[in-house]
Amino acid sequence: MSTPNIEIDPSLPTDSSLLEPTYINYQDLIDPTMDTDIIYERLLEELYDVLDCDKATHKDEDKLPNLDIVFDISKKTVWKNFKNFINAVQRKETDITDFIKNEYGRTPSINKHGHLLITGRYTSIMSNTIRKYVQLFVKCPACGSLKTTISKNHHMGIDYLICTKRNCSSPIIKNK
Ligand SMILES: [Zn+2]
Repeated sequence: MSTPNIEIDPSLPTDSSLLEPTYINYQDLIDPTMDTDIIYERLLEELYDVLDCDKATHKDEDKLPNLDIVFDISKKTVWKNFKNFINAVQRKETDITDFIKNEYGRTPSINKHGHLLITGRYTSIMSNTIRKYVQLFVKCPACGSLKTTISKNHHMGIDYLICTKRNCSSPIIKNK
């Protein structure tokens, strides 16, 4: 039996706290005679209020590009839209290549097309690796925004993830 290759969207939350139920007193909000679309809209709005999120945060502007990763004839894994990704997360090439090197024990290279190449077949695990990178170094744990920067604190030796949208600040814990 073969295992299917599952592409995991790296923008999906994996933090289990996001799955905890949020209780809304919906009886104050809706009337059973209302149109179901309106009911849905109202509940959704209320949910966003409860989560204290800006709706826009979770729409298009914060979406990461779908990963385009293939295994080519030279027996290398090729991440074709690597450039799009680093533009979307606003990180340096070396931030990502260093991370991949740590994960796989191999140094990736960047070709003239801006594709990231690594020898070996990593097509099925690469998306998980990238998702891990996003969870650790991009996604604001407080509000889920992907618009963040890293602030290095040389005195304390702790880096902070600063959310440019809502000004959240959280220490980066690397040994997850
Ligand atoms: Zn935030």
